[in-house]
Amino acid sequence: MSEAIKTDVLIIGAGPCGLFAVFELGLLDIKTHLIDILDKPGGQCAELYPEKPIYDIPGVPMVTGHGLTEALMEQIKPFKPTFHLGEMVEKVEKIGDPAFRVTTDAGKVFECKVVVIAAGGGSFQPKRPPVPGIEAYEGTSVFYAVRKMEQFRDKNIIIVGGGDSALDWTLNLHPLAKRITLIHRRDDFRAAPHSVEQMRALVSSGKMDLRIGQITGLEGRDGRLSSATLKGNDNAVETIACETMLPFFGLTMKLGPVAEWGIALENNLVPVETSAFETSVPGIFAIGDINTYPGKIKLILCGFHEGALMAQKAHRYVYPEKRLVFQYTTSSSSLQKKLGVS
Ligand SMILES: Cc1cc2nc3c(=O)[nH]c(=O)nc-3n(C[C@H](O)[C@H](O)[C@H](O)COP(=O)(O)OP(=O)(O)OC[C@H]3O[C@@H](n4cnc5c(N)ncnc54)[C@H](O)[C@@H]3O)c2cc1C
Repeated sequence: MSEAIKTDVLIIGAGPCGLFAVFELGLLDIKTHLIDILDKPGGQCAELYPEKPIYDIPGVPMVTGHGLTEALMEQIKPFKPTFHLGEMVEKVEKIGDPAFRVTTDAGKVFECKVVVIAAGGGSFQPKRPPVPGIEAYEGTSVFYAVRKMEQFRDKNIIIVGGGDSALDWTLNLHPLAKRITLIHRRDDFRAAPHSVEQMRALVSSGKMDLRIGQITGLEGRDGRLSSATLKGNDNAVETIACETMLPFFGLTMKLGPVAEWGIALENNLVPVETSAFETSVPGIFAIGDINTYPGKIKLILCGFHEGALMAQKAHRYVYPEKRLVFQYTTSSSSLQKKLGVS
């Protein structure tokens, strides 16, 4: 087990609510680390609708999911939070009163006084395509994400899907791969038009293949893929030699390991009281889409409010000896100093 990273507050989830919690905690001199399964901050805003406009952030008539994430990242810069991206929190154990040990799937261990669960709808998980026997190849020949491009050098790769992920990885892996075959159920792509154009240019110049149809079977041994069967839209059946398949069928959200952390759950959500959004375990808070209470609405602005109230109570655990004096950013020179604006 690696040496524990010590922090005041550990935030699980770097979606908009986890990010804004850094700001509210930072104003109170509370240091934060954030962990997220995704390889980037922003949660649903970054993963599900980066280009879509949001119209109900107070004082901001319109901002895209990406724009809001960028703005929050800029706003929390003065507090220098540490991000641990591409890691999933697996275990949360109580080790004090309150104090917690948190472990990720990468084996990282944290010790903190307060845990803030800002895990949204849980973990984003790839949708599995309906191909019989695909489970036997997952993790050895079938991958739902590209973590290291080098792994795919000199491979015959089948990429399945018609969205941005499928097209982006087709273009990114093309220079490394032995041969790429892109498969989509129709000759019409949801991905960015310039990516589709680049892909079609590669196909026209014979540098990669495009097939329209669906994978109906996989062949191989011991988890190692050797070929895939394609049924074209014209019902013609073709066998395509491949060592790797990358299906990009979108993501669903699953609660994931939150259910195993000893916290009371209600319909896969974390019930909290509404004065500080604390859970059934003192010192563990839940804010944003993951929590539930009478009248809860899953809106970003509600999660921001929850983060502000959570921070006030977290201060009591982090600095039990200090009295908290309420201050406005407009008029407090000490808050402005922390923000680096005076
Ligand atoms: C298409 C669409 C449009 C929307 N439009 C609006 C809108 O206009 N206005 C509005 O207010 N809201 C909108 N929403 C809802 C809004 O996006 C959510 O309310 C908001 O994202 C919730 O933020 P969050 O920080 O609680 O969770 P999320 O954004 O879901 O982030 C949670 C993060 O936690 C991570 N995580 C989960 N489990 C773990 C774990 N075990 N370890 C590590 N990390 C973990 C996830 O990877 C994720 O990144 C929209 C949602 C969708 C899908």
